[in-house]
Amino acid sequence: METRSMGQYIEDAEKALLHTYNRYQIVLDKGEGVYLYDMEGKKYLDFCAGIAVFALGYHNERYNNALKAQIDKLIHTSNYYYNVPAITAAEKLKKISGMDRVFFTNSGAEAVEGAIKAARKYAYLKDGRKDHEIIAMEHSFHGRTMGALSVTGNPKYREAFEPMIGNIRFAQMNDFGSVLANVTERTCGIILETVQGEGGILPAEEEFLQKIAALCREKDILLILDEIQCGMGRTGSMFAWQRYGLKPDIMACAKALGCGVPVGAFLLTEKVGANSLTSGDHGTTYGGNPLAAAAINIVLDLFEENHIIDNVKETGAYLEEKLEELAAEYDCIKERRGIGLMQGLVFGRPVGDIIAKALQRGLILINAGTEIIRFVPPLVIGKEHVDEMLAILRSCLDEA
Ligand SMILES: *Cc1c(COP(=O)(O)O)cnc(C)c1O
Repeated sequence: METRSMGQYIEDAEKALLHTYNRYQIVLDKGEGVYLYDMEGKKYLDFCAGIAVFALGYHNERYNNALKAQIDKLIHTSNYYYNVPAITAAEKLKKISGMDRVFFTNSGAEAVEGAIKAARKYAYLKDGRKDHEIIAMEHSFHGRTMGALSVTGNPKYREAFEPMIGNIRFAQMNDFGSVLANVTERTCGIILETVQGEGGILPAEEEFLQKIAALCREKDILLILDEIQCGMGRTGSMFAWQRYGLKPDIMACAKALGCGVPVGAFLLTEKVGANSLTSGDHGTTYGGNPLAAAAINIVLDLFEENHIIDNVKETGAYLEEKLEELAAEYDCIKERRGIGLMQGLVFGRPVGDIIAKALQRGLILINAGTEIIRFVPPLVIGKEHVDEMLAILRSCLDEA
């Protein structure tokens, strides 16, 4: 039996784990619905969901049982063989996205890596050049591996790890002119988050997206949408781009796709699927293993059965309305932005102390950049939870 206190565990963690995170000083132990408990039994209302991951809420019996059943049957096979959960998960993903081909990964960054490789290979097969360029957005976030980092529009994250993969140009989000200014005859892809997450909960404007989609069609440049955070129902449609009636050539997905089991995927249209990566070009040992695929299957089943998207529409609209009220009421809040259950409050100052105070009072919030509080709760959240969150947040703001 372990007898260490929470404080002792935290102290010991800092001796054993590489210090790459400034963690909040709690050790989480269990979850129930939209609440988490630390190992001292303190209860927290969770508006983080493990960074937009645990959409279904904690301790979901159907989800847990599906995983347990798969564990008892078969956990891993490698991609040298077929397995039923991966086949059905791919079929379901095709159906909800309208995309044609699926490659399963273990994380979001790995999905972005695959997307970049597919775009480069597609262009290479067309003209044989080896100097293709990708346009990405300032303030974007696509992951921490070298390829994903190379298209991440935050110099602070990149600097110590230069050189990046090269031939990446950065444009301004929601400024089509700056995208156009970066297009050359070597451009093979334009990558962006349909709603920027880490960079500050900034949705791509419809007109901006439509113009990029048209430009991509005209010049046979591949449109790569990163739906890792904003996808899987968070904005009130299964994927955020679906509300605009356009379609990417490649889409990256992860986070809520497995609701906690580490999975990701990149999806391609038939045009790209048939003319890019082929046998020997790309691989992964774990990607789409039976356990990971079982998670995707049960997540997608529960999304449908529990009408998750309907709840996001309803509760997301309520959260938006209440945050608007809050923004109007408090001078320190400059702006509310976001869609559905992916919302941000922009403050004119760092928000770390507000988030720390909220945590003390049993509310888990996270930031997006230093001056924005991000709201990405489990998608099963109800209006009563929004009210509970607001009461705590108000008390913190009144004191700050
Ligand atoms: C989290 C995130 C990633 C990276 O995903 P990991 O699973 O952490 O590698 C990429 N893009 C976006 C938009 C994300 O939010």
